[in-house]
Amino acid sequence: MNLTRRLLLGATVVIVAMVAAIVLIAGRRLRDHLRAETVQDLTRSARIVAVLWRAGQNPDSLADAAGAALDRRVTLIRGDGQVLGDSRFTPRELLGLENHSRRPEVMAARDSGMGEASRTSASEGDDELYVAVRHPLGFVRVAISLDTLNGVVNAAQRDVLAAGLVGLLGALLLAALFARGVSRPVVELRDVARAVADGDLTRRPHLNAPGEIGDLSAAVHRMTEQLAGRLAALQAEEDLMHATIEALDEGIVVADARNQVVRLNQSARRMLAAPDPVPFPADRLPPVRALREALRGALGGASADAAEVELEGRILLLVARPLPGGGAVLALQDLTARRRLENVRREFVANASHELKTPLTVVSGFAETLTDPDLTPDDRRRFSAMIRSNAQRMQRIVDDLLDLSRYESGGWKPEPRPVDLRQTAAEVLGNLDRAAGEKGLTLARELPGDAAVVRADPVALRQILANLAENAVRYTPAGTVTLFAAREGAGVRVGVRDTGIGIAPEHLDRIFERFYRVDPARSREGGGTGLGLAIVKHLAEAHGGSVRAESRVGAGSTISVWLPDDAVAAVE
Ligand code: ADP
Repeated sequence: MNLTRRLLLGATVVIVAMVAAIVLIAGRRLRDHLRAETVQDLTRSARIVAVLWRAGQNPDSLADAAGAALDRRVTLIRGDGQVLGDSRFTPRELLGLENHSRRPEVMAARDSGMGEASRTSASEGDDELYVAVRHPLGFVRVAISLDTLNGVVNAAQRDVLAAGLVGLLGALLLAALFARGVSRPVVELRDVARAVADGDLTRRPHLNAPGEIGDLSAAVHRMTEQLAGRLAALQAEEDLMHATIEALDEGIVVADARNQVVRLNQSARRMLAAPDPVPFPADRLPPVRALREALRGALGGASADAAEVELEGRILLLVARPLPGGGAVLALQDLTARRRLENVRREFVANASHELKTPLTVVSGFAETLTDPDLTPDDRRRFSAMIRSNAQRMQRIVDDLLDLSRYESGGWKPEPRPVDLRQTAAEVLGNLDRAAGEKGLTLARELPGDAAVVRADPVALRQILANLAENAVRYTPAGTVTLFAAREGAGVRVGVRDTGIGIAPEHLDRIFERFYRVDPARSREGGGTGLGLAIVKHLAEAHGGSVRAESRVGAGSTISVWLPDDAVAAVE
């Protein structure tokens, strides 16, 4: 039942009880009062009749006359109780009336001069009020029907009841207004409190309710404001923390004391391949022993030393720490790339050392031999030449290594500008004229007008073409080496085509790796360092371009780079 109804019901019960009490109490008092008045009135009438009653007079006629005059029933009773006259009965009927000496009012009058009684009349059959006074000749009794008295009382009670009902209606109306006045703000407060409890902090109660409800309303208003403020601050803090954790390259996993993962950043999801939304049981993390043990230990309050874990081909460094309030945090660092880089570096150092070792051995060996005073001038010349050629080879390797490290250091950026390919081709091929001539190779160029100018760093472009052309001459025993350019998409493809030994398919993808050679001996013999194509690839990619190698064993190779027209945009 809502508040308005309860208030109304309470008011109704109170008012009904009050009206009932008024009706009952007022009715009784009125009745008592009226009866006392009537008794007095009847006493006076009886005394008047007593004054008129004389001996020798016809008592019945007196009773009739007095009864008619007083509009009351008048009875004259002899001292022994015999009824001598009665205004309601004829003289004949009087004879049939019983002796009245035992009537209570008569007995009281005999004792004290006056008596009263009310009862159902034996002779009349209705309720009557009797008053009797003593008289020398007997008793004078005057009676009135109680119906009259009751009628007055009932009418009065009806009036009180009617007034009570009108009062009740009025009171109910007021109570209803009051109840609504009280309940409306209370109901509103309830709704606001519910909404706030459900998380809607935009709801506020109206502040115009009167009295204590108004105070309550203002307090709820203030409370909601504060709550909203604190929640907003908390949310901002949470957002900041979320953004911070998400920004980390490290994977972060937080588990609570019940072994549930409650927070997991994007890096951790990627490393652990855990797609579930949090929270989820920590058992659903990958079943790697070190991971489980670290988590279990941290949940038990122990910090574990950093451990390396291998997970689906990744190497992860794992650190677990207990949280102060129970629970644990795991930090995961992906070492895969670093380890790969370390491997590449190690391999590179090994390769470079190996490359330099052979010529160094040769140089030091021949240098020692040269100290022999018995050497013939011819041998001396031959050995000096060997020393020189190996020193040159080392020089080339060191130069290429320096170039590569310069390009890869990140400090170098191409400075693209329009370069005339015809001029670059002339320079590059010009430098190879002698070597090609010695092998009887033809050097050709195919530079159509629309591809004669490319946007590239001039020095880098010259190095690309020189490396490709040198390779072509080196690996082509006979035939033609052609430097070509052609438009392709939003750029130009430039490269060198030869009719040489070709490259088997299984090597094609790898020839751009540092120190990768299909045939190391042949490469060294021709003065190759194994770094030329690695440099080409790096330079092309620095321009936003790419490399391509096509070849058929025995038929020749075409190795080219594609450079975009907007090389500046691509590198910036
Ligand atoms: P190198 O200095 O040994 O030539 P590169 O990096 O320039 O090193 O080339 C890598 C390897 O690719 C070479 O050793 C060779 O085996 C192969 N290669 C490159 N260009 C050609 C070509 N035009 N024809 C055949 N093989 C080639």
